[in-house]
Order: sequence, then C-alpha cells, then structure tokens
Amino acid sequence: MKCYICNKGELVKKEVPRELYGKAIGKFKAEVCSHCNEAFYDEETSRKITEKTKKMGLWGLEARTKIGVSGSVLDVRLNKNIVNFFHLKKGKEVRIYPEDEKRFVVELA
Ligand SMILES: [Zn+2]
Repeated sequence: MKCYICNKGELVKKEVPRELYGKAIGKFKAEVCSHCNEAFYDEETSRKITEKTKKMGLWGLEARTKIGVSGSVLDVRLNKNIVNFFHLKKGKEVRIYPEDEKRFVVELA
C-alpha cells in the first residue's frame, strides 16, 4: 500500500508513540509511511486517541478568544482548559515576547 500523502513510501503497521503539547499520550496502532514517516490511524484508533486526550485534560486547549479591555490596557482572556493545563493563578508572572508579526509567546516564569 502506497502512502496517501507522498505516494512514494510503503505503509508499514507499527505501534506509534503519540504526544500532544509535549505530553506522552501512549502508543497506538498505525500505518506508517517508509518514506515521509506520516502515520495513519484507523477510525477506532483515532477515537481512542481522542478519548485519552480528553481524559488527560489536553482537549479543547486551542480556542478562539478576543482582546478585551481592562482599564487603560488590553488583555487576552484564557479559557478554563488553558488555565487548568498551565495551573495558572491570578498574579502568576509571565514573560511576553513577539515571535513574528502574527504571533506572540506567553512564557511562564
Ligand atoms: Zn509518505
């Protein structure tokens, strides 16, 4: 079976370690391309990965938010999942710096 992405490699069945946001989720059955290394999961395995991700509190961390106003400065609201994931509390110090023209990083001190 040729790879669906590069169409060059052969797909080989393997157990693949998955991680999300730097946290190990576990090993899952996949077909991995011998050329580009892309991993393909069947429906059942995809469901298992999603379930595990939810159990570990890694689900819903990516979200849209809006710039708000607080007095004379602007702020960014963080959803509960992000707050829990990073164990954020009011008063926690962070460092903010631009990564490029469309991104900035908020780094925990
Ligand atoms: Zn490939």
